Amino acid sequence: MVNYGLTGVRPRVVIVGGGFGGVNAAKALKHARVDVLLIDRINHYLFQPLLYEVATGTLTPGDIAAPIRAMFRRQQNVTVLMGEVTGVNPAAKTLTVAAMNEPIAFDYLVLATGARDNFFNHPEWQGSARSLKSLRDAIDLREQILKSFELAELADDDASADWLTTFVIVGGGPTGVELAGTLAEMFEFTFKNNFRRLHPDEARILLVEAGPRILPAFDPALAQQVHRKLENMGVEMRVNSPVEAIDDQGAIIKGERVLSRNVIWAAGVRASPASDWLGVPADRSGRVIVNPDLSIPGHPDIFVVGDTAHTPQGDKPLPGVAQVAIQGGRHVGAVIKAHVERYPAPPPFVYHDKGSMATVSRWYAALELGNVKTAGLIGKLGWAFIHILYLSDMQNRIRTFIQWTWANLFSARGSRYITRPFTRGELASVDTPPPTANDG
Ligand SMILES: Cc1cc2nc3c(=O)[nH]c(=O)nc-3n(C[C@H](O)[C@H](O)[C@H](O)COP(=O)(O)OP(=O)(O)OC[C@H]3O[C@@H](n4cnc5c(N)ncnc54)[C@H](O)[C@@H]3O)c2cc1C
Repeated sequence: MVNYGLTGVRPRVVIVGGGFGGVNAAKALKHARVDVLLIDRINHYLFQPLLYEVATGTLTPGDIAAPIRAMFRRQQNVTVLMGEVTGVNPAAKTLTVAAMNEPIAFDYLVLATGARDNFFNHPEWQGSARSLKSLRDAIDLREQILKSFELAELADDDASADWLTTFVIVGGGPTGVELAGTLAEMFEFTFKNNFRRLHPDEARILLVEAGPRILPAFDPALAQQVHRKLENMGVEMRVNSPVEAIDDQGAIIKGERVLSRNVIWAAGVRASPASDWLGVPADRSGRVIVNPDLSIPGHPDIFVVGDTAHTPQGDKPLPGVAQVAIQGGRHVGAVIKAHVERYPAPPPFVYHDKGSMATVSRWYAALELGNVKTAGLIGKLGWAFIHILYLSDMQNRIRTFIQWTWANLFSARGSRYITRPFTRGELASVDTPPPTANDG
């Protein structure tokens, strides 16, 4: 039987998920007398907060992703395995991996499997709306954005061109805001003089939010400033506007049909199915309700961190953000190390809020750090500094810094590649004008 580095001589720690939570748990075990198996269904660690920069051609995939194997090449107690975990048997302390005949045994288990899109009981929307959760999503979205303009340049009639160059972004959180702002800049500056027939700066961008305001986690006055900034950049802001339907022709927003080839979903997430695997209680978003040390009820050696965990702190759970996963991963590493080495257990997990940020344009971001609440150039500099700091390695930091400097100074987006020719379906969409708005 292959043991994947888990010899059984030392305690076996299996970590599922090589994102923010899992990677930080593994790093925290660097000097612990354990063998760690880190399993992920993909081979790279991904800095999700910058996915929108790949989708809009500013950064390349390699700038925001790093091979998990390379990250742990010097940490001898970690073995990396690419595989999809399909179930856990908490009583037997084993887990199953797709295509592997034998289950893997563990002494400690850390589940850090993140979240996926939540289409709020409308799974059929998934086929028509673009997601932005993985590198694949970002590359596909980039291709869709670029192809929409190329198709519009081919189109004979205005109705088709309008359909092709209308962008509906669903969700007014940081991802929706960042995408809307970047698309507006891309169409106005980056595409300037690139087309002869089209006027990309006339493309429509709608930012749609069901709630009363964008950036609900931010200070209301700061969120209002960002709202106005986006409006001034030409983004159509639709708050209090639930999306009622999404299909291949567009979306119905608060009763109004908007024709668009490009509906982008940035609205909600649902935790990975860890609670089903474990058979433990979850909240409405599917997050496992964890103990103060991030273990699960009845199993002090199984932990859940990051977007998959419902971590109560005060009167509400912690948000699904990178810092919660990073700090949670580190905490669990410390708990396991203390247990193995028979130290007193660390105190319960306490999250240290490092603030919220959302960038809007090349020189404008909203930044909230404790009492500091600012929007503008200072916010942008703070945003850029913190994001570069948290990229996976020095190479990514240097590359990203250079790309950003170039992009900001010259509005250049160097990564504007279309790798697949038009499909028949895409070409047909140019010849066949979409139905008029009243057909909805
Ligand atoms: C577009 C976008 C923008 C964001 N912007 C921000 C931001 O600006 N600031 C911020 O703080 N947060 C932001 N977030 C949220 C932040 O990225 C998450 O909170 C964070 O990634 C959670 O970390 P995690 O370790 O829980 O999960 P992830 O980082 O998602 O990692 C989960 C890992 O588990 C793996 N996995 C899943 N299921 C399995 C399985 N069955 N078997 C094996 N492996 C599996 C996945 O492949 C993945 O690598 C953003 C997220 C997105 C999608």
